[in-house]
Amino acid sequence: MKPASFDYHAPETVADAVGLLAEHGDDAKLLAGGQSLVPLLAMRLTRFEHIVDLNRVEELFGVSPDNGGVRIGAMTRQAAVESDTAVAGRVPLLHLATPHIGHFQIRNRGTIGGSIAHADPASEYPAVMLALDGVAEIASASGNREVSAAEFFESTFTTAVAPDELLTALRFPSWEQPAGFAFDEIARRSGDFALAGAAVGIGADGDGRINRAAVGMLGVGPTPLRATSVEAALMGLSAADADPAEIGRLAADDMDPIGDVHASADYRRQAGSTLVGRVLAEALSQLTSEAGNG
Ligand SMILES: Cc1cc2nc3c(=O)[nH]c(=O)nc-3n(C[C@H](O)[C@H](O)[C@H](O)COP(=O)(O)OP(=O)(O)OC[C@H]3O[C@@H](n4cnc5c(N)ncnc54)[C@H](O)[C@@H]3O)c2cc1C
Repeated sequence: MKPASFDYHAPETVADAVGLLAEHGDDAKLLAGGQSLVPLLAMRLTRFEHIVDLNRVEELFGVSPDNGGVRIGAMTRQAAVESDTAVAGRVPLLHLATPHIGHFQIRNRGTIGGSIAHADPASEYPAVMLALDGVAEIASASGNREVSAAEFFESTFTTAVAPDELLTALRFPSWEQPAGFAFDEIARRSGDFALAGAAVGIGADGDGRINRAAVGMLGVGPTPLRATSVEAALMGLSAADADPAEIGRLAADDMDPIGDVHASADYRRQAGSTLVGRVLAEALSQLTSEAGNG
């Protein structure tokens, strides 16, 4: 099928893009990499009178240093995030999560901003943003604002970005050393959306006691979720003595999965909490080897 007809706009600045959104309101839709929007338009699951293509807005592309962490323009391709050395060094969890997004053809075109704005609960980037307390920079014709990850994901496919707003960039903090990070997910085939996934960061003090824990989960609720029970159980433990399988099981209490054609709610809860334990084990092992080297 082909999309219903629409007027195509190709602004070259953020100011022009938000001007078009202000002018056309709910009738306008932003186009980033098109990896989610174009199939929806082509199958006529949605239609808009005006498509505002962001691919010529240069100021939305690129990774830059930000207070030890990174600031990533919304139109930065997922493949560029994957290969960026500053991202790999400063925000390892983002680097580890990216290869799990679809296939490389999709990452060559798909953008980090599109993934975060689309807010599929089974997507990798939203769970990483939530785990790391990332910040979204948002612009509209009436000004700019920032929204924390905890406030950003409102419900399935719904975020704090209003129809007349544009997500311009994401900021991700860096963690003090020593820290360990790991990401993994369960999918039926490589490249499929995850049935369940986990993004884990663990930090420790000089005595090897855990003083920072971030556990993001995908595919196990209406939005990305944090495994707050797991995070609380880890705090103050000796990293070398923590039992990841036992602590990971607590994640089941933090999930709110649904059953669908891909997996039952029960499967997602059980497999998801086992996965949290495994990913936690990997992050703890990274942490202890880094602490040993430090
Ligand atoms: C076969 C296949 C497999 C996939 N597998 C995965 C996967 O495993 N994991 C995963 O996370 N994704 C997966 N995707 C989706 C892919 O990652 C998309 O790139 C991503 O979801 C959307 O990014 P995009 O840049 O393509 O955005 P688009 O499709 O262009 O836009 C998506 C939505 O975000 C809005 N939007 C885009 N940019 C902005 C902005 N700057 N400000 C405000 N709103 C904006 C659009 O208006 C639209 O509503 C898959 C896609 C395909 C086709």
